Amino acid sequence: MLNFSLSEKQMKLQKKVREFARKEILPVAWFYDELDKPPLSILRKSFDAGIMNADIPTKYGGKGYGLVEGAIAVEEIAAACSGLATSIFDNSLGMAPIMISNKEHIKEKYLREIAANFKLMCFATSEPTMGSDVASMRCKATKDGDGYILNGTKYWVTNGGYADYMTIFATVDAQSKHKGICAFVVEKDWEGVRIGKHIPKMGQRTSNTAGINFKNTRVPKENILAEPGEGFVLAMKTFDRTRPIIGSFGVGAARSALEFALDYAKRRHTFGSPISANQSIQFKLAEMYMKVEIARLLTWKAAWEIDQTIKTNISASIAKLYASEAALQVVSDALQIFAGYGYTRMYPIEKLLRDVRLLSIYEGTSEIQHLILSGHITGSYQPIMPALDDLPIFRWDDQDKDFQEAMDSQTAWRCPMCGYIHVGDEAPDECPYCFVAGKNFKKVWPA
Ligand SMILES: Cc1cc2nc3c(=O)[nH]c(=O)nc-3n(C[C@H](O)[C@H](O)[C@H](O)COP(=O)(O)OP(=O)(O)OC[C@H]3O[C@@H](n4cnc5c(N)ncnc54)[C@H](O)[C@@H]3O)c2cc1C
Repeated sequence: MLNFSLSEKQMKLQKKVREFARKEILPVAWFYDELDKPPLSILRKSFDAGIMNADIPTKYGGKGYGLVEGAIAVEEIAAACSGLATSIFDNSLGMAPIMISNKEHIKEKYLREIAANFKLMCFATSEPTMGSDVASMRCKATKDGDGYILNGTKYWVTNGGYADYMTIFATVDAQSKHKGICAFVVEKDWEGVRIGKHIPKMGQRTSNTAGINFKNTRVPKENILAEPGEGFVLAMKTFDRTRPIIGSFGVGAARSALEFALDYAKRRHTFGSPISANQSIQFKLAEMYMKVEIARLLTWKAAWEIDQTIKTNISASIAKLYASEAALQVVSDALQIFAGYGYTRMYPIEKLLRDVRLLSIYEGTSEIQHLILSGHITGSYQPIMPALDDLPIFRWDDQDKDFQEAMDSQTAWRCPMCGYIHVGDEAPDECPYCFVAGKNFKKVWPA
């Protein structure tokens, strides 16, 4: 059954988060962006409102929302400020490896604690020397009794400066690439954990980003999330869950840019009429609208697949890639409609542009999504049509003949090079077009 409508519960959630975003986030987003100071107070409000952590299963005291509900909520927050959306929903990124894992005691301890109290959790695969190439991480995990000792630096960690808990990926042996990667839940206050200064950024300045350094930090056995060899797969499965959410960041931001541009186009007059009266502006708005709609559909589909436990890495990549690139294009088109005013810091478009520029970088760049998709289409994709060599071709040359009779009596052969179809009991001696020998022709009818 295919159904594109939201349930009553989902519509209620959308309304609630929309109101929160307009009331609590929109009025202050530009202020905190100017300050380059991510506001913990807003994160706390989103926790109190039940918007943060809504994906924690009910079993651990959470609301048990699915990823479709996550996508709905994220779109609303991102429409007000995608930097704050990144911060608010970063707990879901940090918790995803725990939820995917089978470590019941870790779920019981950390998910329950995060559901009950305002605690932040970050996620770190990236390092100063690597981002895309996850298997080449260097942060070292050395076996120590039944636990591990961590040494090294994780970088670009969203909420790294604020998080109480961290999902840290490290390697027992950098040379063994993905086979050496393991994962741990680490606490901020543990010995040897140091947090770097907030990294100043071009956009999403309302989200905290920092490096984390470990010096002989001991991780007890109970906090091992993935043993060596299991960590890489855990990180990839995490991205399957979280990439659709990056798509929702794009949908929300692009939707706002479209709405602001529409408003402006109706108010701004040139040559005696509103610029919205020009077909070139109308067509731009139509394209922008279409991109928002497509991005939302792809994002919701990928989120739905996760909720249905369908293997979804391809849909997740498509959603992330399309929505983040579409958002950049939509916001850029909005800026073109605003023209000079769009380029100022007095209108919201320049912040939107700086903010959405990140979407095609984090959680796998657009190039990495292209690698995943091209690998799939040229590798594991299962075509529905027969191979070209097996394409059944029937010619109904004699229109007076009965169709069925003609079908039953005809034999057809295809030249493997130029595609010429020869009708006859035998293949021709050679192709009359490209001279390929007849022995290479393949019978394509009867199929
Ligand atoms: C604001 C912000 C927040 C972030 N938050 C987090 C976080 O919370 N946790 C975390 O772990 N990380 C986080 N990241 C890191 C982010 O995931 C990485 O920046 C991203 O994966 C890209 O890695 P990189 O910057 O090292 O680029 P590189 O991997 O060095 O890539 C550089 C360029 O080369 C391209 N490239 C690389 N390999 C290939 C290839 N094989 N084929 C074609 N092109 C290629 C890339 O697409 C890119 O254009 C964050 C980053 C930023 C900027």
